[in-house]
Amino acid sequence: MAALTSLFKMVNIPNKGRALIAAQDLKAGQTIITESPLLLFSASPLFSPSPSPYCHHCFRTLPPSQTFSCPSCSNYIFCSQKCLSISLNSSHSSWTCQTLSHLQNPASPLSEKSSQLQVQARLIVAAYNLAIHTPSNLETLLSLHSVPNYDKSDAIFGPANFIHSLISPFCPPHMNFSPELAAKVIAIERANSFSLMEPYSPNGPQRSIKAYGIYPITTIFNHDCIPNACRFDYVEKDEHNTDIVIRLIKDVDAGSEICISYQRINKDYSTRKRILMEDFGFVCECDRCKIEANWNEGENKDSDLPHKIFLSKFVCDKVNCSGTLAPLPPKDGEKCNVLECNFCGNLKVDSTT
Ligand SMILES: [Zn+2]
Ligand SMILES: [Zn+2]
Ligand SMILES: [Zn+2]
Ligand SMILES: [Zn+2]
Repeated sequence: MAALTSLFKMVNIPNKGRALIAAQDLKAGQTIITESPLLLFSASPLFSPSPSPYCHHCFRTLPPSQTFSCPSCSNYIFCSQKCLSISLNSSHSSWTCQTLSHLQNPASPLSEKSSQLQVQARLIVAAYNLAIHTPSNLETLLSLHSVPNYDKSDAIFGPANFIHSLISPFCPPHMNFSPELAAKVIAIERANSFSLMEPYSPNGPQRSIKAYGIYPITTIFNHDCIPNACRFDYVEKDEHNTDIVIRLIKDVDAGSEICISYQRINKDYSTRKRILMEDFGFVCECDRCKIEANWNEGENKDSDLPHKIFLSKFVCDKVNCSGTLAPLPPKDGEKCNVLECNFCGNLKVDSTT
């Protein structure tokens, strides 16, 4: 058992593997962890038709007036002098700047490749940069679990090999970067990354992703299709805006597992099953899945099943949203009856308590 915070600890559950359980009785709405990313990289393809409207360091929307460009490449724009300075010593180091400039050259073979591959190239550059500047962070990254059997997957080794071959002329010789390392990074990112999304709009279109981040503790929470916790992020706020916050939806007794959902909770059984297998490589055996696995295609039983009641209470009903609702943090030990949506930010009074 490992104590991660005073609020929860890591244990091994037979037939399930590692899990995070409450170390004391916890209350609905309680924030149990606020975590900064170990690695954060833009979700915008290297050859995007339009320039990114977000700061390349903090991913806030760029202000309409003054912005700050990288003095070397001028391709990368930042919201403030502070973001620019921090980035030049970390995520947009001179090594990253030089490597990305090479990859984004119009003659680069990447210009013909899929958006997915172009974003994977950003990931590999960001991971190698981590190895050069903060090697201990790369070690932590490599200690995370990855999608199963990636070492037999051409879908991972193909892109890893190709991207590594483009970057390798720029790699410091003593760093021992390799196609195997690139493949491992892709496999770890697939199993662990969280998306930071564009601001919500009721008019659509579907929100796209600004950036992907890896949060080494938050990633340990197991999945449940009826979670008792959910994640929030506040990318437009002033400080620590790329942190992820995990808050409880319901009271959790000491010793009970804390789970989040790896996808929107309103999806039907077959969609959830497909996404969990494709993106995370497992079959969910939660209580809800056990019940819904026996339903016929398209059947949507109207009933007082506990998970139906949960969904009607905790799925946001704003147009184009269906985020998950969780109570605001308790005040003076009293449960708050205002629910916040983790996707659109809407606040709603919970009339059922
Ligand atoms: Zn910024
Ligand atoms: Zn630059
Ligand atoms: Zn499930
Ligand atoms: Zn919402």
